Amino acid sequence: MNASALIWHNGQLKPWAEATVHVGAHALHYGSSVFEGERVYATPNGSRFFRLKDHTERLLLSAKVYDLDLPYSADEIDRACEEVVAANGLKSAYVRPIAYRTGFTFSLAPPRSTPVEFSVIAIEWGSMHGADALENGVDVCVSSWNRAAPNTYPTGVKAGGNYLSSQLIAQEAVRGGFAEGIALAPGGLLSEGAGENLFIVRGGKIYTPPVGSSILAGITRDSVLTLAADLGIEIVEQNLPREFLYFADEVFMTGTAAEVTPVRSVDRKPVGDGKSGAVTRAVQKAFFGLFDGTTADTRGWLTPIRDSAKKPTTTTSTVEMEAA
Ligand code: PMP
Repeated sequence: MNASALIWHNGQLKPWAEATVHVGAHALHYGSSVFEGERVYATPNGSRFFRLKDHTERLLLSAKVYDLDLPYSADEIDRACEEVVAANGLKSAYVRPIAYRTGFTFSLAPPRSTPVEFSVIAIEWGSMHGADALENGVDVCVSSWNRAAPNTYPTGVKAGGNYLSSQLIAQEAVRGGFAEGIALAPGGLLSEGAGENLFIVRGGKIYTPPVGSSILAGITRDSVLTLAADLGIEIVEQNLPREFLYFADEVFMTGTAAEVTPVRSVDRKPVGDGKSGAVTRAVQKAFFGLFDGTTADTRGWLTPIRDSAKKPTTTTSTVEMEAA
């Protein structure tokens, strides 16, 4: 990582190496962090966040579930995300705000007064599975790991601890030579990928597992469902059996990191003719069109980096920190 990159860390922009956390931090031991993954796209009108307010809202809802009291308002969180992108001079970026319980305690029910810290990292990151994947699709498998049952820990909350499940799914897939794993929900029906929502196209309709199928309700998922409806494509949100993957004409996955990624094979069986299909391409065109200006942003999903965020007042350098 670029050592001169800046991280927004508890209200200050700090050099990469100085934005650290203590080994006693509660989040490190017990997964008590909540986070987001966001993107900034270089559009013809300049750099634009994609659905920043929706990400911040989900972050705050995730924090609410685990009683993490963030010392920042939604607007301050938005501004922190904007500031770190501006400070690093990034035109496009993947942005990772994270709130985490620190304060040294081994308690599983720490008092609400236990500190919660907040940082934002911004990096350049192309598509998660690479540019070729967006064009030609990825090979995936069905995981031997299920997603978590609804009454264990909530999959609809984007908390650090949830990603142990995602790591098992992704690691098994990658070690087996696949780009990604798709997990079943505890009842054996389809859920989602390790870090993506799942879509199946059959007979011109788009099918996707519902929110109650142990998924994270993705913001890209919502965007794609909205754009597909605009295109007049029929959408069916329902529980789906695994064999739907093998019956599919097309399969694709969505996520902030993965964007809209076609799936060309599942369990080494080709999806349709093994190429990205017409519906997937239409959805990709509508989605990426938001960022090259060919899809109108009628819902205010794209927001600029405000001028106020371009002049951060709180940068610390190593020299200043040593002097302090
Ligand atoms: N499911 C999981 C488990 C994820 O980690 C992600 C990525 N945040 C998604 C779905 C997609 O969500 P989004 O479109 O909001 O990035």
